Amino acid sequence: MGEQRYFQQGEIVGVLPAGALDRVLDYKAPEGGCRLGAFVEVPLGPRKIVGVVWKEGAGTWDPAKVRSIKRVLEATPMQPNMRSFLTRAAEYTLTPMSAMLRLATRAPGLGDTPAMRKIYRLGANVPDRLTPTRERVLQVLKDYPSLSFSLKEVADMAGVTPSVVKGLAKMGAVVEADAPRDTAYPKLDPSYAGKTLSPDQDAGARQLRSAVAAGRYGTTLLKGVTGSGKTEVYLEAVAECLAQGRQALVLLPEIALTSEFLTRVEARFGARPAEWHSGVTMAERRRAWKMVGEGGAQLVVGARSALFLPFQNLGLIVVDEEHDTSYKQEDGVLYNARDMAVLRASISAAHVVLATATPSLESWVNAEQGKYAKLELKSRFGPAVMPQMRAVDMRDQDLPSDRWISPALADAVRSRIEKSEQSLLFINRRGYAPITLCRACGHQIGCDDCDARMVEHRFLKRLVCHQCGETKPMPAVCPSCEAEDKLAPVGPGVERLTEEAEALFEGARVVTLSSDHFGSARAMKEQIESIAAGDADVIIGTQLVAKGHNFPKLTLVGVIDADLGLQGSDLRAAERTFQLMRQVAGRAGRAEVAGTALLQTYQPDHPVIRSILSGDEDGFWAAEAAEREAAGVPPYGRMAGIILSSENVQEVFDLGAAMARNDGPLRQVGATVYGPAPAPIARIRGRHRVRMLVKADKSVPLQAALSRWTAQFKIPNSVRLAIDIDPQSF
Ligand code: ADP
Ligand code: ZN
Repeated sequence: MGEQRYFQQGEIVGVLPAGALDRVLDYKAPEGGCRLGAFVEVPLGPRKIVGVVWKEGAGTWDPAKVRSIKRVLEATPMQPNMRSFLTRAAEYTLTPMSAMLRLATRAPGLGDTPAMRKIYRLGANVPDRLTPTRERVLQVLKDYPSLSFSLKEVADMAGVTPSVVKGLAKMGAVVEADAPRDTAYPKLDPSYAGKTLSPDQDAGARQLRSAVAAGRYGTTLLKGVTGSGKTEVYLEAVAECLAQGRQALVLLPEIALTSEFLTRVEARFGARPAEWHSGVTMAERRRAWKMVGEGGAQLVVGARSALFLPFQNLGLIVVDEEHDTSYKQEDGVLYNARDMAVLRASISAAHVVLATATPSLESWVNAEQGKYAKLELKSRFGPAVMPQMRAVDMRDQDLPSDRWISPALADAVRSRIEKSEQSLLFINRRGYAPITLCRACGHQIGCDDCDARMVEHRFLKRLVCHQCGETKPMPAVCPSCEAEDKLAPVGPGVERLTEEAEALFEGARVVTLSSDHFGSARAMKEQIESIAAGDADVIIGTQLVAKGHNFPKLTLVGVIDADLGLQGSDLRAAERTFQLMRQVAGRAGRAEVAGTALLQTYQPDHPVIRSILSGDEDGFWAAEAAEREAAGVPPYGRMAGIILSSENVQEVFDLGAAMARNDGPLRQVGATVYGPAPAPIARIRGRHRVRMLVKADKSVPLQAALSRWTAQFKIPNSVRLAIDIDPQSF
């Protein structure tokens, strides 16, 4: 670390503006000077923009015309290794530098002066009659009684202009006070309450401790079935990191998992760490960002965006459930947090732990090839054993076409209910039914703006587009032929399955666990806690339940449609199904009672289904790896998806075709372009999308070739071009 270069007032420096022009621009250091890496506010045209002092000024401008930095923001200057990380990440993902920097300046209130930061609370003098806008402000303050916000935050949350809040303050309905300074997080004690580890765990913990203590970059793949005690083992790596006085980051794939995890951290280290994800209040996020930068936060638990926090001395990154597809950011800057964690660690001399029950093929191959160290916990911790996996051959089950719980599965559920054990019925489909069909004309209700069906959600009492989020009421008549009473649900969703289960298991407590059913993270947490406490007999859940929750009374998992993920031509379909099925099955039998997983399938002889049932993981991965190698696709080859989108379908096809024809820079390096073809979802939010896939050998510097190739074309303003390195589906 050490001090960074200091520029005297008036010296020319190069500032990279965040999220604006993609260039380092010359400015004069302000009064008091500034350091290299300082977060600053600069004038850009008529605007004021946050940026970072990136390097010395280029001096290409007439010094008399160079504008001055407005002010240096109250934040620890960015470390050189963070600047390298952002630069390398931008190069890898082919993202403009300023867009990359934007990810590292997402601190609420970063541009505020201390004087701008006030807190607002409900006052005593609230008039009886209020305008609706004023009403909304007061409601926000009532909803969050113990929190403090800035004026802008209160206004944003209430959806009003700041003047409304000021007006209320003037009449005494809202009280304004100086905001307290952000404080450091309580110290975590690495030796507060370590568990006695099993011999397996202990060996693993030693390996990780010494990897962290080495103070160099390295990655360990920590593999072990659900419940094998991986978390306990990597918490030892965190302990070592804290003992070394370095900072640690634990990434989780799902916000709903954080609160359970924080409780465990508190039990282990005696205090709660910093939290960073979209469910945290702005005030807390501001504190976390600042304290990470000042060293007042030793451990952060967060979502993928936590990788861009200003760690000063990062010693360890844990990526829990590393295979999880939600680590891939599919909006804006397209990056995979698992890969970026490895990149950040390699620049910061930190260690990475990738924890999972079912590794991604990429990580499995890296471990096989010796690029990653391997660590495996072979059995479940304590008495629990892996569930028995069995197929229910649906061809033998006598089921009407609008029922999905087979007699075999129903019997198994009933026997659990009798023993006061819990069952989980898993279906990876939100809503009531995936299709709403007119039985008179065959019309299926679709989204107006997307190439997607509208999904009926009875809980929300709306039709919902899962692509763009648009909702509309269920029409009374068919929108196409206007027939009455002919619209019918087709296929099962989690809500419809709940209905079926309620009818089938009379008197049982049936609960639905799906993200749509919770207004807030807290509501979801309460539901999960009440299930864990035993207040449910049958749980009907979507993907949400597949991820790390601990339900000790759960002994049966029924997968309603094990074939669902195997459809389509996606090369990753097998991998995903394998991971998901094992993950879901792993929910069963965590405590003393052995669990059972029943997979309803119409193709019990499908190779993927067979390897799920047999549990022959290494065999499955080896076969998958061989297939990918033969096809020359990741992780054996390089691949990028290029998506062009526009409101005009002809325009994107024409541009795509022109790009595919003029592929000189790609051919030069031996890369091939396929397409253009309609993207997997051909229209989203009214924009038509075409996709090209570019494939190359592992040794090809693909990013550079892609840049040269795309630079040949003038992309009209009406077209958006997005490059997706290592696309999730191909
Ligand atoms: P995983 O992360 O592999 O799913 P966990 O670390 O969550 O496994 O462990 C599963 C359960 O076993 C947890 O409830 C955990 O507290 C408990 N457990 C694991 N290791 C130990 C240990 N050494 N001593 C006591 N309890 C343990
Ligand atoms: Zn839509």
